Amino acid sequence: ASPPASSWSSKSAGINGSLRRDIVGLLLPHYTRPHTEILTVPQSGTKTVPSQYFIIADGAQSEFRRKLNLRMEGETLFYNQAWYFRAPDLAKLFARTQLSSMTFFLNEDCYGDILIPQTAEGHWLYHVTPMPEGVEADDWPTFRNMLYRSIGEEFEVFEPQGRYFGSQVRLAASFNFGRALLIGDAAHLTSPFGGFGMNMGIGDAVDAGWKIAAILQGWGGPRLLETYTLERRDVCKYIIEGAAHNNKVSGKALVRPYMEEDSERGEKAREEVREFIIREKTQQSRSFGAQFGYRYTSSPIVVGDGTELPPLQYGEYTPSSVAGCRAPHLWLSEGNSIYDHFGPDFCLLKLDPAVDTTALEAAAAEVGIPLKVFLLDSDEARSLYERKLVLIRPDQHVAWRGNAEPDDCRWLVDVVRGAASFH
Ligand SMILES: Cc1cc2nc3c(=O)[nH]c(=O)nc-3n(C[C@H](O)[C@H](O)[C@H](O)COP(=O)(O)OP(=O)(O)OC[C@H]3O[C@@H](n4cnc5c(N)ncnc54)[C@H](O)[C@@H]3O)c2cc1C
Repeated sequence: ASPPASSWSSKSAGINGSLRRDIVGLLLPHYTRPHTEILTVPQSGTKTVPSQYFIIADGAQSEFRRKLNLRMEGETLFYNQAWYFRAPDLAKLFARTQLSSMTFFLNEDCYGDILIPQTAEGHWLYHVTPMPEGVEADDWPTFRNMLYRSIGEEFEVFEPQGRYFGSQVRLAASFNFGRALLIGDAAHLTSPFGGFGMNMGIGDAVDAGWKIAAILQGWGGPRLLETYTLERRDVCKYIIEGAAHNNKVSGKALVRPYMEEDSERGEKAREEVREFIIREKTQQSRSFGAQFGYRYTSSPIVVGDGTELPPLQYGEYTPSSVAGCRAPHLWLSEGNSIYDHFGPDFCLLKLDPAVDTTALEAAAAEVGIPLKVFLLDSDEARSLYERKLVLIRPDQHVAWRGNAEPDDCRWLVDVVRGAASFH
């Protein structure tokens, strides 16, 4: 898709807000040295921050990703238009129906439009996806008429500010570049259909965070950081492709002739749309598989036991303790989550008090891995986790599981900390 000719409403300079652009330079010549210096320009003046690693999290346009020549791969599906405005009386028009966090309008004119309340003072966000053919991005009167058509009547609108944005399916070829890590929109761009952009960024930060901490604490191995791309890129790709599907089955894809008619054929058309929405769009709102079910099973720092995995489904989540999956959740009592017992480091979940774990604990201590042993004598947990021992990483994904310590505990701890080598 090509970007619309005009991007901003002629009546405004864009959505208000002060974007920070403090960091003005990166001393790239120092990049190959153990310390990288980052120049910042806070209000007080120029400052140099010596850093061993740097996280590039400067958003979709990522200046620093470009400086490192890390390119995005993929495509722009569509361009969409968003309008932000104040309409104090609009909420009252929802008196006959329910005001939801998002209202999707569907009618035969099919603008693919969505209305999202923003503040109690009557601010709203109005999205039209994709950008209608032949309509200029700054043509507020046309968009306002679409909104009136969808709402069913006219109302006063103040201070409209518009901008377009792309529904993107893009990933950086690599999320790592030496000691630089791309995180969030700097690494991947997705269609907002499903609400996964920030989610993925937080997932990236969790994955990168424990690995950088491990290296700085001295127990992370030399290969640990490169697993960041190996683990996160495939997960983000899966989620982004699902969001692209959600976006494609919107707007015109949902329209059927006569769907607004008060007749038998109108009723039939609405029934068809209903079935289509349930089949194709449920995963947009019910995305438990994409949220909890993604797994790092092909990562070189998890050790599988050959068990078949539950299918990865965008909408449905099947808890599993197979290595690479998120450790299944369990409430131990009211308000007492199993996760709260794992702690911030590696955790060895011991579900049988009789199993010996001294060799594994000693191997972890030898290489400095902080390891908590959490003894849980619970039939429910044993049945959920299917093994007596489960080694859980700081990000709550399973690194290994078994019914007894492995023969070579030192090999296991080296693999999970990214330090496996040939002997
Ligand atoms: C319409 C729409 C709806 C969305 N809805 C959802 C949703 O429901 N759920 C969800 O999870 N995600 C959603 N997203 C996506 C989400 O907003 C983004 O994925 C998320 O904001 C990305 O976070 P980020 O920190 O990577 O980048 P950004 O939020 O872009 O933050 C980057 C920051 O870096 C700063 N910066 C840039 N350059 C410099 C510099 N040189 N020096 C200092 N600072 C700098 C910028 O000022 C900015 O503050 C939506 C996106 C859109 C467009």
